[in-house]
Amino acid sequence: MQKRALVVGLGIAGMSAAIGLRRAGWTPVIVERAPERRTGGYFIFLFPEGRQAAADLGITDHLHTRNPEWEPGGITWTLGRRGKRKPTLGFLDQPGPAAVLRGDIEAALWQSITGVEVRFATTPVEIVEGADDVQVVLEDATGVRHRESFDLVVGADGLRSTVRRMAFGPDEDYLTNWNAIVCAFQLPEHVPSYEPSHTVVSVRAERAVWVFGFADHPPTTLLTYRTEDIPAQFTGSRIERLRSVFAEMDDPVVRHVLDSLEHTPDHLFDSVHQVKMPRWSTRRVVLIGDAAWCMTTYSGMGASSAMRGGAALGAALQEHPDDLGAALDAWEAGLRPFITEQQDSARVKQQRFVPSNRVTEVLRSVVLDVARRIIHRRRAAEPAASPVPA
Ligand SMILES: Cc1cc2nc3c(=O)[nH]c(=O)nc-3n(C[C@H](O)[C@H](O)[C@H](O)COP(=O)(O)OP(=O)(O)OC[C@H]3O[C@@H](n4cnc5c(N)ncnc54)[C@H](O)[C@@H]3O)c2cc1C
Repeated sequence: MQKRALVVGLGIAGMSAAIGLRRAGWTPVIVERAPERRTGGYFIFLFPEGRQAAADLGITDHLHTRNPEWEPGGITWTLGRRGKRKPTLGFLDQPGPAAVLRGDIEAALWQSITGVEVRFATTPVEIVEGADDVQVVLEDATGVRHRESFDLVVGADGLRSTVRRMAFGPDEDYLTNWNAIVCAFQLPEHVPSYEPSHTVVSVRAERAVWVFGFADHPPTTLLTYRTEDIPAQFTGSRIERLRSVFAEMDDPVVRHVLDSLEHTPDHLFDSVHQVKMPRWSTRRVVLIGDAAWCMTTYSGMGASSAMRGGAALGAALQEHPDDLGAALDAWEAGLRPFITEQQDSARVKQQRFVPSNRVTEVLRSVVLDVARRIIHRRRAAEPAASPVPA
């Protein structure tokens, strides 16, 4: 009899886990709270680790990348305090990262899970682990509940995971608060006077606006700011709050992004947290992706690590076909050093996105200027080098 796993969440982690499970000879069943696929999304960079994870999952051929063509002089601009633009070091100045939308990864994974049973508008409301199975009560959109038996539950249901709450305990035990907010959405049009494929950044101490250009897609934007009072950010009018947070940054980029947000109902607005857990599995419940180790947007590794986790779970189950405990132990032992390293480095990466004070704002600018000069000189000397991943 094939073993059955319930995968909760049809995100990047859930679909990656389903691919891994299927490879190991398991039958995954995915339940998703949303009534349909969540196809939209913001920018994602896949650094070499992420591209390797995509290759390990076998989705590279389906993955559409959107790297703009690199130009001598660069394709990333920053605005100074007086609103004057100058070139700066962008993530795509170095050969390596693939620029994609979250929806590109979602689509590639979706094509690769053909045949996997997916139940939309369905969510677990009770999980009871036994010696030989795990009993799950599932509720559908009409409120109908039924009990079902699985060999394993995979919680891939994101930062505020229901599975984590039911099997491991309340959010407060695992979410660390970074005193920051992110707001991301797709811009209908680029900031006037910039090329569609260019990236433009306006950064001050504690607040920043990024507009990421793509080769063949309208840009997406990220507003982010630091605040000690997270609950207050979720009260009142969102646009009014953002206008007041960014009031001191009255430059063309900030104005364009805030004006665009007024006409964009579909946006992500959330507080920033890392998830830190001493262990990612119990006997028959395992967490993966943001549910287990959310690294924050600043890490640039959330999607990559979700894919890596799914591929590694499949490999561990294949290596230990008759011992689930040993498979989960091996999976976690193999993955944890990488996750810890990425979580630790996210604090430094946050400074690049949104410096914590005026000193780091200046320092950041100097470091990026120096790095840009070195990298651009090197690239100019190697005209054949291509930034677009093969
Ligand atoms: C602005 C931004 C930029 C980012 N940039 C990068 C980047 O450059 N590189 C990178 O690697 N990562 C990046 N990330 C992070 C990355 O998107 C996530 O870490 C990654 O998608 C992993 O998500 P996940 O599948 O674990 O969770 P999610 O994407 O949150 O998916 C969870 C799924 O579970 C479903 N669900 C939730 N609760 C239930 C329930 N009770 N029952 C059933 N289903 C449920 C949800 O509807 C959802 O479909 C970025 C994130 C943001 C916000």
